[in-house]
Amino acid sequence: MNANNQYEYDLFVIGAGSGGVRAARMAAALGVRVAVAEQDRAGGTCVNLGCVPKKLYVHAAEHGSAFAHAAGFGFNSQRPPFDWQVLQQNKDGVIAQANRGLEGILGKAGATLIKGKATITGNHEVTVEGTSYSAERILIATGSRPFVPALPGSDLMVTSDEVFALQSLPARALIIGGGYIATEFAGIFHGLGVAVTQAYRGELFLRGFDNEVRRYVAEHIRKKKIDLRFNSQPAEIENTTDGSLRVTFTDGSSVETDLILAATGRRPNTANLGLDKIGVELNDLGAIKVDEGFQTNVPSIYALGDVIDRMQLTPVALAEAMNLVDRLYRGKQTSLSYKLIPTAVFCSPNIGTVGLTEEEAGEQYPHIDIFTTEFRSLKQALSGTTERYLMKLIVDAGSDRVVGAHMAGEGAGEIIQGIAIALKAGATKAVFDQTIGIHPTSAEEFVTMRSKTRSIDR
Ligand code: NDP
Repeated sequence: MNANNQYEYDLFVIGAGSGGVRAARMAAALGVRVAVAEQDRAGGTCVNLGCVPKKLYVHAAEHGSAFAHAAGFGFNSQRPPFDWQVLQQNKDGVIAQANRGLEGILGKAGATLIKGKATITGNHEVTVEGTSYSAERILIATGSRPFVPALPGSDLMVTSDEVFALQSLPARALIIGGGYIATEFAGIFHGLGVAVTQAYRGELFLRGFDNEVRRYVAEHIRKKKIDLRFNSQPAEIENTTDGSLRVTFTDGSSVETDLILAATGRRPNTANLGLDKIGVELNDLGAIKVDEGFQTNVPSIYALGDVIDRMQLTPVALAEAMNLVDRLYRGKQTSLSYKLIPTAVFCSPNIGTVGLTEEEAGEQYPHIDIFTTEFRSLKQALSGTTERYLMKLIVDAGSDRVVGAHMAGEGAGEIIQGIAIALKAGATKAVFDQTIGIHPTSAEEFVTMRSKTRSIDR
């Protein structure tokens, strides 16, 4: 510990989101004098406007679909009416509980929560609502906010910040974007009975994911009757006389809808923090520049999470926060590895992925072997759903190590988490083959893929 009584606090954290809370409570638990400033509710994007309410909506959408799929199991009844207000109230209740829980955790750890907008007014000074506090170190964990493309009528779109507060569920929705949020909300709205169009500007959505998985998910989303359009970029949005919204695309086509969700990426929250006055450097994309130890060019100021824009994922912000606390207050200078970070897109079908895509592995290794399986589970056999499973392992033929695992299908996020441990431990394909399956599950396919689908030599 590094207590320096010249300052009121050892560490002043700006932002009580995932990264800020984790850093604050881990440091405070070590006896570090910590303050956290937050202008809104504790929990940041993840708890209030992201992962938590989104996952509750995903579960709601799955229930919606499950009624339709229950007949094959003998449940012959109509889907009961869906009450959006009940979902909203219950979702708000879970969030309020999480807000209180996080505030309690901070207090118990010994951190002081200061409510209000914080500005950095000196290398060792933060001002919140007119009161200045001194600190040996300042940590910026202010997260990110939705980015909305500039086009005529763009103010008629909502973002993920507003979508969780909708008073009613629209009959039709158009979603702009082809990333995590767009594809997840296409599945959510569809599952809740909304007629969905998803419009992506490029050839194939989910850029950065394995191409085979991207194509597979596109095919299965279309089978659900979601109107998934590629090479589709909005040019203009206007109100129509009947109260609808009309989007005209650059190719001249148009769509009428009731709600437009812009899910077109997020940008780091760096404005009005006083960074320019202090001289904290940003990179070309507007994210705060930090070194391996999350230190900015101003030695007393650190940053982590979405505001440094390495990977906009809650578990990454948590890992960065723990790494920083280890470095500053535990004397451990280990580097945080950004390799083999598993991730899931909670779209329908669900995507889970860890490691290299086939395309990346093909560039990095001279010889790779690809194992794939596509199948219908027992549940799907009776449910009548069009959904299937795709599982895929990518193996470096030279070392036999599994360098990528990908999956599309129900529970992919849950299954890939375990596979990620195997990859982190350096498991070879032989280890996968020696592992006994759990029968009958879908996950067992990851240990029963014996025949190569193809080999690729560079
Ligand atoms: P993403 O970066 O995932 O996707 C943004 C999408 O918007 C891309 O398809 C992009 O296209 C498109 N886009 C960007 N700019 C424009 C534009 N000017 N006009 C039209 N389309 C545009 O961002 P999201 O907003 O979906 O999510 C933000 C981040 O939040 C994600 O990157 C992810 O890290 C995190 N997140 C994680 C979740 C999870 O873990 N399950 C869930 C939700 C969010 P292109 O590909 O061509 O650039």
